[in-house]
Amino acid sequence: MLPVLLMFLSIPEKYKTGCRSRLKRSHYTSVNCVLENSQKAIMVRIQDFEGMQYFRDGTPAEKQDYTYFNQQYATSSQAGDHNMYPDLIVQPKRDEDVIKTVNWARENQVAIAIKSGGHQYSGASSTSGKNIQIDLSNTYKDLMVLDARNPIAQDRALVYVGVSNQLKDFNAYLKHNQLFVPYGQCAYVCVGGHGQTGGYGQLGRSFGLFGDHIRTIRMVCHDGVIKDVSKENDAELFNAVLGGSPGNFGIITHYIVEVYQAKSYVGTVVGPNGFKGPHGIKGLWIYSPKVLKSLLTAVAQMADDSNVPRGFDLCVSVLSTDFPVTILFPPLKNADEWERIQNKIKGALADKFLDWLNGSFPAIIVLYAQWCPTSKDDKYDESVDQWFNKFRALKGFFKNETLLINELEEDMSRMSGEWIFPKQREFDLPYIKRTYSTNSKSLEKDGWVDDVVNRIDLIYNPRHFLDNNPGDKEYEAYVHCKLSVQIQCYGGENSRFYRNKDNGTSYSWRDTSVVQVLDCFHEPGDRYKEYAEKWQAENDLIMVGPSSSFSKQDRRLLWGSYGDWDLGKQDIWKCYYEDAAKYQKLGKIRGKADPNGTFTANPFAVSAIATRDS
Ligand SMILES: Cc1cc2nc3c(=O)[nH]c(=O)nc-3n(C[C@H](O)[C@H](O)[C@H](O)COP(=O)(O)OP(=O)(O)OC[C@H]3O[C@@H](n4cnc5c(N)ncnc54)[C@H](O)[C@@H]3O)c2cc1C
Repeated sequence: MLPVLLMFLSIPEKYKTGCRSRLKRSHYTSVNCVLENSQKAIMVRIQDFEGMQYFRDGTPAEKQDYTYFNQQYATSSQAGDHNMYPDLIVQPKRDEDVIKTVNWARENQVAIAIKSGGHQYSGASSTSGKNIQIDLSNTYKDLMVLDARNPIAQDRALVYVGVSNQLKDFNAYLKHNQLFVPYGQCAYVCVGGHGQTGGYGQLGRSFGLFGDHIRTIRMVCHDGVIKDVSKENDAELFNAVLGGSPGNFGIITHYIVEVYQAKSYVGTVVGPNGFKGPHGIKGLWIYSPKVLKSLLTAVAQMADDSNVPRGFDLCVSVLSTDFPVTILFPPLKNADEWERIQNKIKGALADKFLDWLNGSFPAIIVLYAQWCPTSKDDKYDESVDQWFNKFRALKGFFKNETLLINELEEDMSRMSGEWIFPKQREFDLPYIKRTYSTNSKSLEKDGWVDDVVNRIDLIYNPRHFLDNNPGDKEYEAYVHCKLSVQIQCYGGENSRFYRNKDNGTSYSWRDTSVVQVLDCFHEPGDRYKEYAEKWQAENDLIMVGPSSSFSKQDRRLLWGSYGDWDLGKQDIWKCYYEDAAKYQKLGKIRGKADPNGTFTANPFAVSAIATRDS
């Protein structure tokens, strides 16, 4: 099953033959027999399919099942307007089921939407009409450190990872092996989509994207054949899959990822405060525009300075009231610590507001700051300590608002887990999303910090609640909308995000200095949706355009898509790809990889261009 990989890697026996052990196969067969008997009444769509099949238009009981499994992150917000109701949802047990699905879809001229973790914000891992969804959330959970036959750098290791692994499980596995690699912050995102959309996260400056570390892509192609795609054997397809058009080239089952040995990234000399590094600060403040301004000024200064050394990473998040904060800050689970924090909150907020909060946590600002030694010469010296001092100093400036400043001194296999956001979704509400990116290096001078703080404050400031009455717009927006904000620095000449730009992948906008996520969740209903939409429409005017303090150009990221999702429209694809040449190159590769449109299940796909090859 892994012909190319076998040439240079030592692959575990079970992958070499493509057959599972007798015990395993007979186990599945017997389970299947039981199911077959009990499911005689169920319509069969794909013959001899071992896994489950759920129909949109089945019996009432089948419809119940279908509704249960037809849930993903975007269902709350896009199910209607992007029609996320496939005719059939299939859950393969193994490769053979995936191949059968591809062959069946091709022969029946329907398309397949591919879902691993179901976190695509526009609902692009779903589809509609007669098309089907292949749900891989439980199919490929393999994890194995491979014994590389060809020498690799001493500080690296190769890991074979199935697409159905969630980041939290991948992280736990790497930690167990004292390994690490960069990836995004959401614990429940799956590796399957994440590899194709990049994997933007806390280690972005110091180590680049998750996708920068993928060496081989194992995928089921349009003809049902399994291929191991690497830069060496198919540079074009490798390039297109990693960053080009997620879900539209084939069904990926596994990646081989080159990860880092944590022991190779520890400081050797004890510096100020007794720290050697890797070092981190995880800070928590009650929301206040002054604190936010101070932290975002640090982001702007870092982004504007091209010479910041590689090892620094910085991310600032803001979360509305009601967020279960202890999952981000486990020390707060300690009863004494919790009481101390609650007393601080009581001292900082007005009684009327505290009554309204009724025990839930107020809006918060969260800081993730990290320094990792990335070369032998990197030392935790005065300059590194000064950088952390900027954040420590906020304790003195903002006594009332500062809740926690946790210092972290641990190896990267542990540290990288500190930045994971261990929650399925930020708020159990529909959302209007925005992810803006920029290559600006004059954010501070251009006044972006004030602009973004003012926009955020329009929703976050408790004064909107205190100074208004039910029915007033500000009051209603405050009470019925919640924000999840995440702003991270990626820029600089030394940033690996930037330096990796010519590594054979196609992730766009590699000169990005800052990515800002401004997601507005709202209570269901047109009225509240309208508040959120209006807030975002105004943000668009401020964050993008010739006179914007943030970005002169509309630069969107496939992982954070929003608005019109038709990548066939020039106005839209121009936001996701640097130029027409790149878009057309991807289109030609799409034409070859997907000649029958089997993997074109919705408009969030680069238009395929037919060539003589395809
Ligand atoms: C709450 C939340 C937080 C997030 N935080 C971050 C973050 O910090 N950094 C970041 O970079 N991203 C982040 N994302 C975005 C996320 O990483 C991307 O949407 C990613 O592509 C999701 O992968 P998935 O497999 O979970 O989702 P899916 O919706 O299943 O897949 C996403 C896309 O990849 C395709 N795809 C999935 N699996 C396969 C496969 N096996 N073969 C072929 N195509 C496939 C799908 O068709 C779809 O187009 C976040 C998303 C959410 C909802």
